[in-house]
Amino acid sequence: MARLHHDYCPLCASTVISAQMEVKDHSITKEVFELWRCASCDFLFTQDPPVPEEAGAYYQGEEYISHSDNQEGVVNKLYHKARDFMLGQKFKLVDRLARGKHLLDYGTGTGYFTDFMVRKGYSAEGIEIDENARRYGAEKFGISVHAPEALFTGFADNTFDVITLWHVLEHLYNPKSYLEKFYDVLSPEGVLVIAVPNHESKDATSFGPDWAAYDVPRHLWHFSPATMKMMVGLAGFRVSETHHMPLDPFYVSIMSQKYASGGGLISGGLKGLRSFATSFSDAERGSSVIYVCVKK
Ligand SMILES: [Zn+2]
Repeated sequence: MARLHHDYCPLCASTVISAQMEVKDHSITKEVFELWRCASCDFLFTQDPPVPEEAGAYYQGEEYISHSDNQEGVVNKLYHKARDFMLGQKFKLVDRLARGKHLLDYGTGTGYFTDFMVRKGYSAEGIEIDENARRYGAEKFGISVHAPEALFTGFADNTFDVITLWHVLEHLYNPKSYLEKFYDVLSPEGVLVIAVPNHESKDATSFGPDWAAYDVPRHLWHFSPATMKMMVGLAGFRVSETHHMPLDPFYVSIMSQKYASGGGLISGGLKGLRSFATSFSDAERGSSVIYVCVKK
């Protein structure tokens, strides 16, 4: 496995970086990766992840597709309820912010959000790296889903009113170049909506290395509100609002408890509740944070 070694901080370029903790790939390979921290800007990142060409081995491409359509069983029913609830929440947020109806959902997966927005009257299109997911979205919903190259070649400047990334930026190998491109293809009044896990949340600090949202090596970057604001700032954005994602602390805490002790639906759920309560009064302490970014 060829690895990508960071010699300097991917955010501020400082060379004063060092190992912070070891985290296991609990969900797929069981390999252990190191998280490193920058002494200058506090950015936390996965050190020595697979090179992009070999990252596919760390993803289970087709399983989530069958999962997303399987109606059997209590867990799947809950999953569908949760997904529908979050689609509604995302729509309400985007619809309040958007100055127009042309939307790009970057990393749209099987296309549920893109389809939802189309049905709400948006001219929405998606970009997705996984070819199977792309085809699925196109066939099931009839939506327009492009391959990633489209971002850099397929759109004129000022094309979109809204760009959304729901738990995607932490997977992108060169997030700064993507943010710069999002800046170009967004209209002057456009909004960029980015949701990512927050390693300074209550559930993250409570679980330490077992926190499920480290999700190494798929998550290359581990953002805090400060480092996210710094990164989008370098691309010309400022954060105008932050919001929590109400279901994430429960899901992440239950997964984390499973990684930590092999079970613990109730104790995981209780830790999720504590994290939820914290983020309810302070979104920037949420398990995941939604950053609304506008051009400076
Ligand atoms: Zn740094």
